[in-house]
Amino acid sequence: MPIRLFNTYSRELEEFRFFFNYRGKIEIYTCGPTVYSRAHIGNFRAYIFEDLLQRHLELRGYKVHRVMNITDVDDKTIRGAREAKIPLQEFTAPFKQAFFQDIERLRIKRADDFPAATDQIYIDKMIAMISTLIARDLAYQAEDKSVYFRINRFPDYGKLAHFDLTQLQSTGRVKHDEYDKEHIGDFALWKAWDEEDGDVGWESPWGRGRPGWHIECSAMATALLGDQIDVHCGGVDNIFPHHEAEIAQSEGCTGKKFVRCWLHCAHLLVDGQKMSKSLGNFYTLADVLEKGYTGREIRYALMRVHYRAPLNFTWDGMEEARQSLGRIDDWLTRLREIAGNKIDMVGTAQRADPTNNFEEALDNDLNISAALSFLFESIRETNRALDRNELDAGSAKAWLNWWGRVNSALRLEQHFVLHASSGTFTFKGGDVQMTQLPAEIAELAEARVQARLAKDWRKSDELRNELNARGWETRDTKDGQKITRRSGI
Ligand code: AMP
Ligand code: ZN
Repeated sequence: MPIRLFNTYSRELEEFRFFFNYRGKIEIYTCGPTVYSRAHIGNFRAYIFEDLLQRHLELRGYKVHRVMNITDVDDKTIRGAREAKIPLQEFTAPFKQAFFQDIERLRIKRADDFPAATDQIYIDKMIAMISTLIARDLAYQAEDKSVYFRINRFPDYGKLAHFDLTQLQSTGRVKHDEYDKEHIGDFALWKAWDEEDGDVGWESPWGRGRPGWHIECSAMATALLGDQIDVHCGGVDNIFPHHEAEIAQSEGCTGKKFVRCWLHCAHLLVDGQKMSKSLGNFYTLADVLEKGYTGREIRYALMRVHYRAPLNFTWDGMEEARQSLGRIDDWLTRLREIAGNKIDMVGTAQRADPTNNFEEALDNDLNISAALSFLFESIRETNRALDRNELDAGSAKAWLNWWGRVNSALRLEQHFVLHASSGTFTFKGGDVQMTQLPAEIAELAEARVQARLAKDWRKSDELRNELNARGWETRDTKDGQKITRRSGI
């Protein structure tokens, strides 16, 4: 069954098969955090949906190149730095760091690139794009010295949001300082410096100023992924004006279709309202961890509903997440016990065979609810067979292999506690953050713990060799598997 995804641009489920680029990888751009405060778990719903997308595509054999930008200059970051009376970079640095810790805790795969908007190479690219847009009459400098995109010259403007421009003209909600614009819908590409910006600013052909938020993403996306990208994701609030503006800017510069497939996730709600900073109804990851929940429980709670359906955050939902994961953990323990049995019950019927239902459900626009119900149905069936002593070691191994694939998309398996002491890391049961250890090394070490639990010594040796090749020594001790970086590397 082909993978089908709901493209916001066409409002249709589309078969996913084309690639714009010929690098053999699906190119995905995901709008990242604005680092003016800690991200809230609503933001993480978006990042977890993107993580599931990437992991499922990889499970299906695709290679993915994903970019997530860091918005480290905009009105909010500048205001924050001014209020804290510190330079912009100093203000945003701890929020960037917290973001990376949070995604690790939620097991979100790191993007291949995390470009920051303030990096001079991207500022240069933004300036180059704005110059092109002006040369093509798609942008103009207004009396306030800022540069605006001229939406009337871009007939496709509004197609992503299915937005009628006449509505825009009739709202009448115009701030005084926006009267300089030719059309109320024209958006800023370059904002002229003003006193409130303090020492934040870059020189440009239009004077000192700073980029608008939308051009940041167009520049970083095209700089790293090329003029045309396969998939662009974000939350539904990004559709207008942010993504609409990205299309206008990018296509205005290149004359080529910017994105093949637009994917947007619905919001995480609290009491029926969008979780957001401005409404004050938000929880950060730290808030939820403080209540005693683990990263994987929060990951599960944010992942379990289809990405296009709104999801209400409740503490009962967190409890349910804990129970569901407990069922998975118990099931795996039972399967591993049977899989490790030396005497195979040859001739016993295999009561339940793993099927492809789970992966096919995800093929269908990442239908996680259906995928999870297949998972729990399978757990119920195998547990029944286990209760009756009717599952042999071969079947248990088959189920464990099946789970390996399921888990490579979901990443919900219990992690192994990491004890770090002077460069040596020990893995045991539990669920703990992996700091200072490269994520891919942690994954290999974990996989090796799993292989040993399943008494798959060949795999365990392969993984030890792989860790060795990457410069890590392994030792199996009564406290767990210790891995240490070889000196001189
Ligand atoms: P921001 O830092 O506000 O630019 O948001 C980062 C990402 O989180 C964007 O893709 C937003 O669309 C998304 N987002 C913000 N609030 C929510 C929410 N309550 N539920 C789901 N996604 C959200
Ligand atoms: Zn963006």
